[in-house]
Amino acid sequence: MKKTVTTLADGRELLYYDSHDDVVRDAVDQRPLGAVSTSSEIRRDPLLGDSVAIASHRQGRIYHPPADECPLCPSRDGRRSEIPEADYEVAVFENRFPSLAGDSGRCEVVCFTSDHDASFADLTEEQAALVLAAWTDRTAEFARLPQVRQVFCFENRGAEIGVTLGHPHGQIYGYPFVTPRTELMLRSAATHRATTGRNLFDDVVDREEADGSRVVIPGEHWIAFVPYAAHWPYEVHLYPRRRVPDLRELDDAARAEFPQIYLELLRRFDRIFGPGEPPTPYISAWHQAPFEAPGREDFGLHLELFTIRRTSGKLKFLAGSESGMNVFINDVPPEAAAQRLREVASE
Ligand SMILES: [Zn+2]
Repeated sequence: MKKTVTTLADGRELLYYDSHDDVVRDAVDQRPLGAVSTSSEIRRDPLLGDSVAIASHRQGRIYHPPADECPLCPSRDGRRSEIPEADYEVAVFENRFPSLAGDSGRCEVVCFTSDHDASFADLTEEQAALVLAAWTDRTAEFARLPQVRQVFCFENRGAEIGVTLGHPHGQIYGYPFVTPRTELMLRSAATHRATTGRNLFDDVVDREEADGSRVVIPGEHWIAFVPYAAHWPYEVHLYPRRRVPDLRELDDAARAEFPQIYLELLRRFDRIFGPGEPPTPYISAWHQAPFEAPGREDFGLHLELFTIRRTSGKLKFLAGSESGMNVFINDVPPEAAAQRLREVASE
């Protein structure tokens, strides 16, 4: 893997990840860009104790540009995008409209491929391996930033999820605090350790494996299952069998098997609702341990993949119980979701 670090016209960082060491990436961004607005502010809610990023400058960002104005496509025929090169494999750059910036963290965009009309599920295993290498490298780089305590690599896919650009891409958020969901998981793991002497994540994976009714893909180095108390209609958790706190510590065997298993999961997601359905909207979220937190070594890196579509043409909305009280109502039994995800396996 070759990494090339450069800057865009307004000073934001741009990185290329290439599978071959002899690739040269030296195109210069010639756009007349003004300074980036980074006025995001973190406010703490006194009742809940959680944090809200107030990012008013994001109101000016680009919504659904036509395909020939896509800012994530390579620059071609005099049309200049965020990526000056005429082609690329994986490209990462600092978001021009960040939710978190400066002392409040950092936001990056990850372009999974230069092919505007592809989706992650269309990538080859080699391409997916390069994306994994980029996520891992970004995690290592974010760990060196004093303002970042936790890094979150994720993909929102589909207009139903609120995606404003059709080009296959994900994002990376570096938060200046430990997020509420991670705090909850760390607390559960600490309680489990205190009461049983064992690791919570190991026990969850072992229980799913032993039960078997919710297992979707039992790989050699990864296991994918629908969790016992799934919040979403179709939700899969993917764990490396050798527990590690974050992407940096995955071993070579897990890295080698990841593309095959993850691509298969995404392809099955697109088949859940049968032929003729538009691509399944999903959120894919890497849960990693905070860089420095008590109990970090007890955290289990995993990926959570879920869709907000519950049946053909119908979305699950976060309505009163979910939005008002944080209590999810899931109409699809996790065992039935797992059964469906096994039925739609690739031939
Ligand atoms: Zn594009």
